[in-house]
Amino acid sequence: TKHFPVRKRGRELLSRTNHVVHAVDDVDLVLRRGWVTALVGESGSGKSTVARLLAQLYPRTSGDIRLHGESAAVSTARGGRRFREYSRKVQMIFQDPFASLNPVHTVRYHLTRALRIHGRAGKGKQELHSALAELLGRVQLTPAESYLDKYPHELSGGQRQRVAIARALAADPEALLADEPVSMLDVSIRLGVLNLLRNLKERLNLAILYITHDIASARYFADDTLVMYAGRMVEGGDSETVTQHPAHPYTRLLVDSAPDPDRITGSAQGLVQEEGVGEPPSLITPPDGCRFHPRCPFVMDKCRTALPPRFDVGDTETHWAACWLFEEAKA
Ligand code: SF4
Ligand code: MG
Repeated sequence: TKHFPVRKRGRELLSRTNHVVHAVDDVDLVLRRGWVTALVGESGSGKSTVARLLAQLYPRTSGDIRLHGESAAVSTARGGRRFREYSRKVQMIFQDPFASLNPVHTVRYHLTRALRIHGRAGKGKQELHSALAELLGRVQLTPAESYLDKYPHELSGGQRQRVAIARALAADPEALLADEPVSMLDVSIRLGVLNLLRNLKERLNLAILYITHDIASARYFADDTLVMYAGRMVEGGDSETVTQHPAHPYTRLLVDSAPDPDRITGSAQGLVQEEGVGEPPSLITPPDGCRFHPRCPFVMDKCRTALPPRFDVGDTETHWAACWLFEEAKA
């Protein structure tokens, strides 16, 4: 859970107990090595906050993060050995590769620095060069000599994102947290970058959290898909089932408004809003009960007051939905 205190317009600080942004509430997920988990939702659903919590870029309001079953609590361990180990093993890739690379430094500088930080630069010049060439080879930027001395502005968007991925790999991570890693890239090269990530997942046995607003790409790329709405997880299961047989009314809306489910270019977000089903609710005063109830075509009385727990949908072992429509299926 992550709540942010907010200031009202006009600089008046409101009491923290009543005025917080409920950015993420009770999110519960497991990442596994060799597995891609997609976290899908509109902008403002809290999905990036989940990635930042997992990267321990800021502390949680409550809850726990475990790595191999051991609690990784940033508040007490920041800077300590356990924290350093965690931040090596769990690497983040951002949406905008241009912003995440320093424009005044070359590819060589970025990758060398990352290798040094993680003690993987080797001993001599030759070892360093092999490590750099191996990293660039892993992201299919070959020959390394053609890229090492380039500056970010001399690379295409796709190449920059590959360098950002190579830099994450310099840490020899176990997990990558990829926050909309292709949404700023040209449509024509998105697939190439997703295929690269999938390939790395297999070769390096990585756990990947793939954050996206594009549910069609989750079907293509992810093993499991989780759907977030207004700071809460509302549905989860294997990607094929969640995207082909969505259970939660919100997921159904997302799937129905994706223009072409076989392509990875659709932005469900824009269409959902165009169709006039309403804006996501304020997270300062989220709706009681099911947070989707003001937009839900199936709303029942209890939805307005009682928060639906996760119910098994019943079609596969892992498919669940936090929706009162599935209360029967549980019994
Ligand atoms: Fe709709 Fe009720 Fe299900 Fe929420 S719990 S999605 S309001 S039917
Ligand atoms: Mg985001």
